Amino acid sequence: MAKLLFFNIPAIGHVNPTLPVVRVLVERGEDVAYVNGEAMRAKIEATGARFVPYETFPDFAALSDKVAERRLARTALGLVRLSRYVLPGVMAIVEREQPDIIVHDSLTSWGHLAAKKAKLPAVTLVTTLLMGREISRRLPRRAMLGTVAQFVGALPPYALLAARMRSEQGIFPVFLTQAVACYSDLNIVFTSRAFQPGGSGYGEHFRFVGPALSARPDDSAFPFDRLTGQPLVYISLGTIANRQPDFYRACFAALGGQPVQVVLSVGPATDIPALGAIPANFIVRPVVPQLEILRRAAVFVTHGGLNSVHEGLYYGVPLALVPQQVEQTATAYHVADLGAGRVLAPEPGHTLPSPAALRAAVLALLDDARSHEAAAAIGQTLREAGGADRAAEEIVQFASANKS
Ligand code: UDP
Repeated sequence: MAKLLFFNIPAIGHVNPTLPVVRVLVERGEDVAYVNGEAMRAKIEATGARFVPYETFPDFAALSDKVAERRLARTALGLVRLSRYVLPGVMAIVEREQPDIIVHDSLTSWGHLAAKKAKLPAVTLVTTLLMGREISRRLPRRAMLGTVAQFVGALPPYALLAARMRSEQGIFPVFLTQAVACYSDLNIVFTSRAFQPGGSGYGEHFRFVGPALSARPDDSAFPFDRLTGQPLVYISLGTIANRQPDFYRACFAALGGQPVQVVLSVGPATDIPALGAIPANFIVRPVVPQLEILRRAAVFVTHGGLNSVHEGLYYGVPLALVPQQVEQTATAYHVADLGAGRVLAPEPGHTLPSPAALRAAVLALLDDARSHEAAAAIGQTLREAGGADRAAEEIVQFASANKS
């Protein structure tokens, strides 16, 4: 039995994919403790793992707002600041728990730094696509140059932060990019090698296990009996960039009265009555059981968060992509390159696609057999990659090979 200590950020998109893996590890008799924010306690305890709260953790919502600002470099800087703030508490937890290995998310560089300080082996769980040259090539030129400029602009504040961390704690993320792409000797990547841009170029340290999907406790009481059997369009902007009433109204204008039924997930922070009259063919909810909806969907309008993209493709559903962050933009163009969806880039002067563009994309995808076939083909590579069982097996093997 190995003693595994997990670190993650309290973000659903990063925690959800790890939970089925944790469940398998616990079932296999491993000793798993999972460090996260209180908001994730119930989800983590439901896997059978021991929940350990961070000693100190600032308001994560503020950082999430930065993420929603679409600036990857600011997110990276925010994560380094967070690392500086939480690392002393994280070291206290490591001291108390005495794990054999540390397992951390690729955005959770403090897990990696703690492993280095405590001279422990580390495993990275990668819930994004691997950030490399191949994925950046998918970005439109303007978005790529903008991102490079942001990182260059963030270097002076980063240098200051890194110097402070080094003098206070003796360690710091070597590069600013390490705050958003913090890799270890073993990296479990929750996509398939076939879907990862440049996948064949990644060596032994990267194991592509596909998405780890499993039934989730469903507390949203979704009215499945209201589904009419018409082609189902599912719309969601995920859990972070979802406070977008104008976009939801554009969806009403685009698809109200069309020969489709629409399920729209708006997030718990959206005031549904304030959206105005809801067309009769819409079901609008704060949260929906996404996997169950996608199983029945014909088209998925998504922000391009990797979990949502995987989940849609897993069920062979083509995607209309409305990216909200730069890495989602890269993912979106990648999906479009593979023929499994269309990118709805905002038109000049607007931040969101027009209702006409949205309607055209959704209706075209409904009838486009090739997009459905391409989505199903990617879905098959995701299903065959091994999922939670393979991820758990890789971690257990790594732990036993690195036992001190
Ligand atoms: N999700 C859900 N119900 C909803 C909206 C989202 O279960 O109504 C889940 C979805 O299945 C996915 C996650 O929330 O697993 C969103 O992650 P993603 O990476 O797509 O986007 P993020 O929220 O991180 O931007």
